Amino acid sequence: MYYHKILVIGGGLAGLRAAIESGPVVDTAIISQVHPVRSHSGAAQGGVNASLANNPQAADDNWEKHGFDTIKGSDYLADQDAAEVMTKEAPGCIFEMEHWGCPFSRTDEGKIAQRPFGGAGYPRTCFATDKTGLYMLHTLWERSVKLNIPLYEDRVVIDVVLEGDACRGVVCWNLQTGEIESFMGEAVIFASGGSGQIYGRSTNALISSGSALAAAYKRGVPLKDMEFIQFHPTSLFGTNILMTEGARGEGGYLINDKGERFMSKYAPKAMELGPRDIVSRSIQTEINEGRGIGGKDYVYLDLRHLGREKILERLPGIRDLAINFVGVDPIDNPVPIQPGQHYTMGGIDTDVTGATKFKGLYAAGECACVSVHGANRLGGNSLLDTVVFGKFAGKAAADYVLAKKDQKQGEAAVAKCVREIKGRIDALLAKNGPENHSDIRAEMKETMIKKVGIFRDKNGMEEALAKIKELQGKYRNITVQNKGKVYNVDIIRAFELEGMLDVAEAIVVGALKREESRGAHSRLDFKERDDVKFLKHTVAEYTPQGPKISYSSVKLGKYKPEARRY
Ligand SMILES: Cc1cc2nc3c(=O)[nH]c(=O)nc-3n(C[C@H](O)[C@H](O)[C@H](O)COP(=O)(O)OP(=O)(O)OC[C@H]3O[C@@H](n4cnc5c(N)ncnc54)[C@H](O)[C@@H]3O)c2cc1C
Repeated sequence: MYYHKILVIGGGLAGLRAAIESGPVVDTAIISQVHPVRSHSGAAQGGVNASLANNPQAADDNWEKHGFDTIKGSDYLADQDAAEVMTKEAPGCIFEMEHWGCPFSRTDEGKIAQRPFGGAGYPRTCFATDKTGLYMLHTLWERSVKLNIPLYEDRVVIDVVLEGDACRGVVCWNLQTGEIESFMGEAVIFASGGSGQIYGRSTNALISSGSALAAAYKRGVPLKDMEFIQFHPTSLFGTNILMTEGARGEGGYLINDKGERFMSKYAPKAMELGPRDIVSRSIQTEINEGRGIGGKDYVYLDLRHLGREKILERLPGIRDLAINFVGVDPIDNPVPIQPGQHYTMGGIDTDVTGATKFKGLYAAGECACVSVHGANRLGGNSLLDTVVFGKFAGKAAADYVLAKKDQKQGEAAVAKCVREIKGRIDALLAKNGPENHSDIRAEMKETMIKKVGIFRDKNGMEEALAKIKELQGKYRNITVQNKGKVYNVDIIRAFELEGMLDVAEAIVVGALKREESRGAHSRLDFKERDDVKFLKHTVAEYTPQGPKISYSSVKLGKYKPEARRY
């Protein structure tokens, strides 16, 4: 059994930032399924928001305006205190990243450059060409190496040890050896990223399966607002690889089959820089009404008018992706795009410090729901969320461990959990049924994108729920073909699928019960936002029969919910 006082699950931006905060104070280790620099954070392109006011067009920007835009963008479901904390902290966190060596793009006077993103409509988003997440991730990784923070890579967390109201550690599958390993700790920080792979047409990495979140959920950790799934307006047709919002921030147009900039109908002021929920719905409406290009499932992202020089300087990665994956050079031709699943607004229910209802259990980054994004996250606010709340969670966990009197208490509970997991894995390997878990996964993804996607209604979601139940039944009759130990991805995929189905069920049930339209949750049968009944967070708790849903109140502040106009 390994022992570290703080165990950070995940080596993405949130996990690294948490470990950098707690590591110098309390013995901290990172456990990660992939090497940290291969985390999905590295795929982030467009940028990170902070009201630096470096661009003359944003000279009077400040954190309060950023806070308001975040709350309005969230369709008033964000907790206003949390959104304000995040936006107030933002400039400091960006300067910290700069001082640690993050190579942000620069203005002519040498200040950090900013580009417009959705929500604000003027330049507030700091960036490093179109590879912002990659540069931030390498900066934090190098910092963690400097601090000698131990890393356990190729470890998949498959269970979390909870004893009474306290967290004692985690149980992992070591991908290199196939052995089950246990880690005991005084505090555990989940920073395991999003759950996008539950959906078809996702921009997320294959490891963004939500496996760690699902393990926590199954042990009784409540999930908040899971029905709010963000669809990004512009993913490449065919592969759903992301074309950053920065492409529209730099001036890109969206064009339908008739050659129209159709956003003038839906968000006449903000146009292409409306918030993501509105732009995604607009594109989908054009497609549904037959104005996709050639009647197909895509419209065009047109960058040609930006000119060769700007595209090469500001959007080189986007250009490479378009050339390599659809054979289109954006300098000469428009790029076929469609909305794709992009971000999990919900997650492990935490407060502003990252604390959950279990002592010693914290969460930060995309797997957590603080909540700052509410029903719709603004582009550029997630990278910000990871560094702000990663730092907070690291600090809160370190303070908790330093004050904790009864240390090294959980050995028996960890050992019991290991026995249970070994039993579950033996049972999984012994299954000899006719079903194929890859087919079940594909059906789940298809069901979620088709029936719990950009537009939703009761009938479709009831069909989705019945399908998820059916797939849970089929799952009992699978066979894992590969019984080997070394890098057995087959068994990991099979194991994590069970948890993905649980989380999918929590998404559908939460969405069915929310009889209104708010942010990314857009119901054709309840088209209006209903603040009287639904200005509240959904909380899902696992039971073997399905999620138990309750509600908690949204922390309002100085901004009263009003209609969103862009
Ligand atoms: C293509 C793309 C582009 C994006 N662009 C932007 C952008 O420009 N601006 C912005 O603000 N946001 C952007 N986002 C969102 C943002 O990048 C992510 O929300 C954020 O980086 C998530 O960081 P994280 O640290 O929470 O998780 P991740 O970076 O996803 O890291 C998760 C970590 O957890 C580990 N892990 C997962 N499961 C397990 C397990 N079971 N056991 C052990 N370890 C596990 C993984 O190994 C990984 O290290 C983008 C997202 C995508 C997909």
